[in-house]
Parts: sequence; C-alpha cells; structure tokens
Amino acid sequence: MYDRYNRRINYLRISVTDRCNLRCKYCMPESGIKLVKHEEILSFEEIAEFTRIAVDKGIDKVRITGGEPLVRKGVVGLVKMLAEIKGIKDITLTTNGILLEEYAKPLADAGLKRVNVSLDTVDPDKFTEVTRGGDIKKVIQGIVAANKAGLVPVKINCVVNESSNESDAIGVKAFCKNLGLEVRFIHKMDIETGKFAIVEGGTGGNCSICNKLRLSSDGCLRPCLFNDVAFNVRRLGAEKAIEMALQAKPECGTVSLENKFNIIGG
Ligand code: SAM
Ligand code: SF4
Repeated sequence: MYDRYNRRINYLRISVTDRCNLRCKYCMPESGIKLVKHEEILSFEEIAEFTRIAVDKGIDKVRITGGEPLVRKGVVGLVKMLAEIKGIKDITLTTNGILLEEYAKPLADAGLKRVNVSLDTVDPDKFTEVTRGGDIKKVIQGIVAANKAGLVPVKINCVVNESSNESDAIGVKAFCKNLGLEVRFIHKMDIETGKFAIVEGGTGGNCSICNKLRLSSDGCLRPCLFNDVAFNVRRLGAEKAIEMALQAKPECGTVSLENKFNIIGG
C-alpha cells in the first residue's frame, strides 16, 4: 500500500504495553506515567486480527515494542500468532534486555527472527543512573542469550545526546564490535518540540523514506510519531483505520503533544 506521497508502507510497529520495568530518563518520568486503562489495551487476539488485515494490504514487516514488551504476560504467544500469519517476512522485537535471558529461546521458538536491545552505555553505574535502577549484567546476559538462541544479528539501539563520538557511544561501539553486534545510534528526541534526526545505522527519522504505521497499546493507529493524528481501530475497524492513517500520513513529522515513547514505542 502507498500513502499520498507515494511512499510504500510495509512496516507495522506494534506497542503491546505502555508499562515498563525501567524508567529511562529520556523516556519516562521517575514517578512513571498515567497508565492506559486495562480495558483500553488491545488483546493479543485483537492485535493479531488487525495485523492479518494489515498484512493483506501490504505490511510484511512487524516489530513488537512498548513500553517494555517482555513485561506483558503471554507475549511469546503473540509472537506465535503473528508468525503464523502468511505474508509476514520479518518479525522483530525491541527490548531493554532486562528479561531477555529468560525469553530469548521461547521467543525464537515462537518464530521471532531478531531483537534490538537498547544499551546507551557500558558503564554499569551510568547504566543504572540513566535507566533509574537497571542492572546492566541482566542486559548483557540477555544479549548473550539472544545470540545463542539465533535471534541474529542482535542490534543495539544506543541513544546519544549529540553524536556517536561521545564517550558512552564509543564504549558501546567497542562492546558491539567485540561481540559481533550491529549498533544504531539514535539521537535523543523530543517529540513535543519536534526535535528528531535520522538514526545513524538505521532508517528511522528520515521522513522521505518512512514506511511505517504504528499501533499503540491503547488501540490507536498512528501514521507518524511526530504528529498527533491517530485512528482508533476498535471504533473504526481495521480497514477504515488503515485507510484513514494512509491518507493522513504527513509528508514530514512536526510535533506531537500527545505521543509518548513508552506508549507508541519509539
Ligand atoms: N522498552 C524497550 C526498549 O527500551 O528498547 C522498547 C521501547 S523504547 C520506547 C524503544 C526505543 O526508543 C529504545 O531504543 C529507546 O532507547 C528509544 N527512546 C526512548 N525515548 C527516546 C528519546 N527521547 N529519544 C530517542 N530515543 C528514545
Ligand atoms: Fe522503558 Fe524502553 Fe522507555 Fe527505557 S526506553 S523507560 S526501557 S520503554
């Protein structure tokens, strides 16, 4: 399927929860956020049904994200449901890695192809500071488990303040080289002021080639992270929501006062 600017839309990012077991400084306030009501959160059946329809229309790549997707109970079952949809070529998941050691093998067995793990520094104290309490050992054990389970290449998402020449980024680069991991540097964004840049080593942030739609955990289909436009899939039905999101996908992102990384998934 194509949007108004002739961009082929084939990538769906699904945020399965707004909850998280970390509180990264650039993503969530320390006190947490106002949580989406349970009844508003899409069930796995609803997500799978929506995805089937989206795949019929041309989606062939799906990423599961959050919040932290591995804190949602039964997420392995969702991966299995999605992997059974004919026409999906790639199913991936973005995680902070804290629970990955336990989940890597079951996820791979369920049909997940790869994972992206977020890691902004290899300094244990700094990691704890940035994530407000995270234990880097768990993340590293998770990365090792993902490699072992064949979720390769494991890709590392590293958020930088200004550039990939910062000392934390240089440390992450060396760590990745040693372990044979790919790394992407994401410039710290501010959705509310429209501050965003192209991801180094990835394609995110480049509006002219954006191929994404985003389904948030509260059932809204959003054509752009940097725009407030959203279509409720329960209210409209999947077909109509997709049609409207395609029509409304802006040529370029601007600002969003409503979107939050932990709800819509980065
Ligand atoms: N909890 C998972 C994780 O941290 O990987 C998945 C969701 S998280 C919102 C997805 C990605 O968004 C992570 O790589 C995270 O570093 C990134 N992210 C969050 N807030 C950001 C911000 N303000 N600027 C740039 N990237 C951000
Ligand atoms: Fe949680 Fe990921 Fe946001 Fe960190 S970036 S607070 S791990 S959702």
